[in-house]
Amino acid sequence: MATGQQIIDRDKSKGRSLMTEIEAKELLKQAGVSVVDTKLATSKEEAVSISKELGFPIVLKIASPDVVHKSDAGGVKLGLKTSRQVSKAYDDILKTIRQKYPEARIQGVSVQKMARPGVEVIIGMSQDAQFGPVIMFGLGGILVEVLKDVSFRIVPLTQRDAREMIREIKGYPLLEGYRGQEPVDIPNLEELILKVSNFVEQNHEVEELDLNPIFAYKDGAVAVDARVILKKDK
Ligand code: ADP
Ligand code: MG
Repeated sequence: MATGQQIIDRDKSKGRSLMTEIEAKELLKQAGVSVVDTKLATSKEEAVSISKELGFPIVLKIASPDVVHKSDAGGVKLGLKTSRQVSKAYDDILKTIRQKYPEARIQGVSVQKMARPGVEVIIGMSQDAQFGPVIMFGLGGILVEVLKDVSFRIVPLTQRDAREMIREIKGYPLLEGYRGQEPVDIPNLEELILKVSNFVEQNHEVEELDLNPIFAYKDGAVAVDARVILKKDK
């Protein structure tokens, strides 16, 4: 099995900076981050056989180092319940991407299980000109995009940092269980933040990282999308 460092070197040698979702998830899984099991299919038949192996419902996504925002590009199909739906979604995704982005290098389609719904949170890392790598935490979807309800800490994070950054977002009550919603496993989220911080500390090649979204549950959490951008060769 390739180590994290090997995966990064291999990608650098190809001269590209965006890892595909599958590669990013593999790398983060090795760092102890819980991710949805995701496999690459390079044909429709393979997409169907992987789907049967993983179990329905299934999600298909475009696997391309040139497509950063997969759903905006029409490259994500959720909740596929049968082999027939998987076949059709495979064709639809390829057709859409080839039409919209004729230049995009396409590796195939990623096949993964549809995760059960949870509270959507995100963990990210970006480079600050002054402080270097900083970790961001926030609630997913509209809360981040519109309200910018996020918190930041400088890498390396302490346990206390992780604790505080979860509690200081305005949406924190949603994590504690709001109006009959189940509370999420907050210690697990703290651990997840620290794992990401450790990963960043150990992989200086990583320029930017996004786990968006992570579904948080009363018992654990799982990242359904991962984006890793590597530093470009100087
Ligand atoms: P992108 O961010 O590149 O547009 P995502 O992989 O985040 O693509 O997929 C878009 C949305 O689809 C996610 O925000 C999430 O709500 C949903 N989604 C993606 N993968 C899964 C999955 N495995 N299970 C359930 N929902 C998913
Ligand atoms: Mg995403």
